Amino acid sequence: MTVQKAVLSVFVVVLLTACGASAQQEAAPAARPHNVILFISDGCGPASFTLARTYLTDVLGGEGLAVDGVQVGAVRTRSADSRVTDSAAGATAFACGIKTNNGALAVDPDGKPHTTVLEAAEARGMATGLVVTSTITHATPAAFAAHVPSRGMTAEIATQEIAQGIEVLFGGGTMDFLPAEAGGSRTDGRNLFDEARRAGYQIVRSRAEFDAELRAPVLGLFAPGHMAYEIDRDPAREPSLAEMMRKAIDLLKDDPDGFFLMVEGSRIDHAAHGNDAAAHLHDILAFDEAVAAALDFARADGQTLIVSTSDHETGGLTLGRNIDGMGVYAWRPEALEPIKHSNGALWERLTAGGGLAQTLEEETGIRLAALAAPRRASLVEAYEDRDAHAFFRAYNEVVSRKAILGWTTSGHTGVDVNLYAFGPGRARFVGNHDNTEIGRLLADLLGLEL
Ligand SMILES: [Mg+2]
Ligand SMILES: [Zn+2]
Repeated sequence: MTVQKAVLSVFVVVLLTACGASAQQEAAPAARPHNVILFISDGCGPASFTLARTYLTDVLGGEGLAVDGVQVGAVRTRSADSRVTDSAAGATAFACGIKTNNGALAVDPDGKPHTTVLEAAEARGMATGLVVTSTITHATPAAFAAHVPSRGMTAEIATQEIAQGIEVLFGGGTMDFLPAEAGGSRTDGRNLFDEARRAGYQIVRSRAEFDAELRAPVLGLFAPGHMAYEIDRDPAREPSLAEMMRKAIDLLKDDPDGFFLMVEGSRIDHAAHGNDAAAHLHDILAFDEAVAAALDFARADGQTLIVSTSDHETGGLTLGRNIDGMGVYAWRPEALEPIKHSNGALWERLTAGGGLAQTLEEETGIRLAALAAPRRASLVEAYEDRDAHAFFRAYNEVVSRKAILGWTTSGHTGVDVNLYAFGPGRARFVGNHDNTEIGRLLADLLGLEL
């Protein structure tokens, strides 16, 4: 070995040692979270976040979405049996870290139950909560607290949910907790509110009870079925998602073992199924308000990991579209501003007797007389036939053309969805992940065995 070569090899060894040391520092175990808040924006794809952000900044003059400050990557959404997942398989991936078939909840494709991150958290003594705007028995919350082969088994899901020892359950869906004799949908005669009360739960059924003093465990259900869309919500009757989440955090945060809380913007998905742009938009804004409040808590707390993602995209929303065969390089969020209600609530008002033209203009800013003849005719005919389905096909097209946006399906799509994270463990979420990795990462960071 020549002197030059020897010097060079010493230099290389020093260099490698230095690199090794810094790689080791990077690989050193990051801080682990004491608490986890998992947000799920059901059916909210990347275009939907663009819609909400642009409306917030360009129409309302706001700063932008809270989630935008903490975006770290994307999530692949396919299920075991389809490239287009449903919410049951999507939530099972987050809850259990496994792929299952569409429709199945916390069981694998062979029907074998798998432990959920919520159950593992409970078993370790952590406090847990589920906060949603759908029925509490709907697919997303159910995947964390029930094991059934089919998401339609909502009476069984309710039974399993109240037996898990969950500290906070907030959402809609009293029907699944009451027997038919008491106005519910249960056919087994059981009254799960009575059973939960005997097991120690505080039962909350109204806004007034929600505003009074709460204690854990608490079962708070505010509607027979789903809670209202944010655009229709009467604050005197139902709390917002952010209000429910703040109360949940207050009830969970003092557990010395930490807490796991899942918060779902459930009806972002339902509005997208209905191609109802305004209802979709306002539920996303309500979701982002909840994330903003959770980020405030996490920044002050310093030991809470926040992860937010969607189970899938719904509606195939596009911003910009063809109008009369020509691609338009624009879209107009301001077209959604005059719309006061969701499609369903609009239909109630349209059929209450005020007349089509007047009610439509008051409720949506759309002037019937100003519409092109074929679109006006479709609206009038569907209205006179009292055919809500046909009416909304025509109405959604009118709104979409005004806003220059488009919907490609009334179902789900297979695109990747956004991923957001903040707090201890955040770095593990950077990148493009399979949906099952989200569940496994949460369990790993909390030191839980799934
Ligand atoms: Mg859902
Ligand atoms: Zn859906």
